[in-house]
Amino acid sequence: MTYYDQHLHTHHSFDCQESFENYLALSPGQLVTTEHLDLCNPAEDFADSMPDYDAYTAEIAELEAKHTIRILKGIEIGFVKEHWPAIASYLAGKDFDVQLLSVHQNGKYDYMDDVVLTLDPQELIADYYTRMLSAVETADSCNILTHFDYGVRRLSLTPEAFQSYAEPYLIPLFKAVIEKQLAFELNAKSFITYGNRLLYNYAVPLYRSLGGKLFTLGSDAHRAADYELAFDDMSEFLKGFGVSHLATYQKGKLQLVAM
Ligand SMILES: [Zn+2]
Ligand SMILES: [Zn+2]
Repeated sequence: MTYYDQHLHTHHSFDCQESFENYLALSPGQLVTTEHLDLCNPAEDFADSMPDYDAYTAEIAELEAKHTIRILKGIEIGFVKEHWPAIASYLAGKDFDVQLLSVHQNGKYDYMDDVVLTLDPQELIADYYTRMLSAVETADSCNILTHFDYGVRRLSLTPEAFQSYAEPYLIPLFKAVIEKQLAFELNAKSFITYGNRLLYNYAVPLYRSLGGKLFTLGSDAHRAADYELAFDDMSEFLKGFGVSHLATYQKGKLQLVAM
């Protein structure tokens, strides 16, 4: 099996219009989509953004009958501690091949909102990674920690400033990620679109030095044109740190694939 994109969205996500068909034309042997679950979502006027699981499952079954490509089910869980009981009750009884764990918001604002620019970066970082640690400790069913830099995407910090503010939080965070056997995602939106490659250049060896072995690549595509965005670049980057395999998940079960 070759590696395949494990972070992308279709019209089952609140912020996306893309169809399955456009991705299917580009997929190797299987396709997985990871739709947004963000309750009380500030990006949607605090509406609950959640995929209609029955409609999602039905569309996948219909497509699988017409195509030879296997379509897996995925979800991107936007974690807020106070929402966890409601998130857990949404997940109960539903089958997902892969579950992504993300911290997009804090119940008041999304970390991509302009308000972030008015905050003290050191306090923002302390707050963001405290929430991410709580997410990792709480959300037991997840497989992949996504875009670790989401909370600082709006800032323009040097890697040195980021390290000095974030490292006291990242060490316990990465230890928890390793203990919970979550994979660490290289996110193409972060890496390319938001120019945070240097933050990954700092964080990947830190995670490795603590014993981290599991990595995934995700385009975070919201349109088929971004399917497997920057995968060659991110693969080469990981190989530079001695990484030779990537993690894939089917029915939540880990399978390593050579790069
Ligand atoms: Zn996300
Ligand atoms: Zn996403």
